[in-house]
Amino acid sequence: MKEFQYLLPHTVAEAVALKEKYDKAAVFMAGATDVVVRMRDYLLTPEYVIDLKAIPELGGITFSKEKGLHIGALATMNEICADENVKQYYPTLAKAAGSVGSKQVRNRATCIGNIVNASPLADTATPLYCYDAIVEIAGPNGTRELPITEFILFVRKVALERGEMVTGIRVPFKEAQGEFCKISRRDQVDLSTVCGTVLKIDGTYRVAMGSVAPQPRRLPKTEALLNGAPLTPERIEEAAQLATTEVSPIDDVRADKQYRLDMVAYIVRNALGKLA
Ligand SMILES: Cc1cc2nc3c(=O)[nH]c(=O)nc-3n(C[C@H](O)[C@H](O)[C@H](O)COP(=O)(O)OP(=O)(O)OC[C@H]3O[C@@H](n4cnc5c(N)ncnc54)[C@H](O)[C@@H]3O)c2cc1C
Repeated sequence: MKEFQYLLPHTVAEAVALKEKYDKAAVFMAGATDVVVRMRDYLLTPEYVIDLKAIPELGGITFSKEKGLHIGALATMNEICADENVKQYYPTLAKAAGSVGSKQVRNRATCIGNIVNASPLADTATPLYCYDAIVEIAGPNGTRELPITEFILFVRKVALERGEMVTGIRVPFKEAQGEFCKISRRDQVDLSTVCGTVLKIDGTYRVAMGSVAPQPRRLPKTEALLNGAPLTPERIEEAAQLATTEVSPIDDVRADKQYRLDMVAYIVRNALGKLA
């Protein structure tokens, strides 16, 4: 690992000022489960590492039906999947967070790190896409918010400008039913070969898939088909097949393209079967 200077700000303002000053020479670090692996492998060689863990305002998970769920930038996967409100009102997100890596990884890994890392297979992305989550950003010019679907732009590319960081994610509250499904080669400590979420919210359907395109993706044609008529076995099969036309998986070490397409159809069919 290349030598670097370790910086430990105590406020968001300090962290933003450091990132603005050092720009591309600096990286933020939360749980470090992505960033340090990439540094070890020389895929990232920052001169400065800005550790966010000493910023109290970034911690915690809050919920009310009026304001929805708020996940602070330092909330870990284990905190998220153990949170009673997340389990009751956002069970697909609880399941996704609980499927990341191992217990040890989840003790450090944050949901915000999972999103900013912008891997196509980020497990918490597809429930957040379906819930219309909002990413909260702080930067040199103040704060702003972006829908998560506009925040993740491509593999490892997000819509952060110079000096900006993510302070949290807000997830609106709506009564929802549905499923998160992770297909992987092993039950534990494995990355998703395909992951997906299907939700029914206020009578309408939302479908999002991961690891089948450069970034996680909502499937608007499949959603429109489902919202157009009652859920019959024929409609479910039509939706499962249509979903495979809205993704563009590749062959890689975990699976080939056809297997991933079959799994997309399976996830949609299986989740809709339970909602019917
Ligand atoms: C053994 C192992 C197993 C894993 N298994 C899975 C898995 O099953 N599923 C899965 O999805 N992932 C998995 N991962 C990847 C990783 O654990 C997750 O992506 C994790 O959620 C990243 O969070 P973190 O807090 O550790 O991020 P970090 O490594 O600290 O940061 C990740 C990226 O986000 C940036 N960043 C972090 N916080 C902020 C912020 N507040 N503002 C701006 N930028 C920020 C960092 O600069 C970096 O680019 C695994 C990793 C390991 C090592």
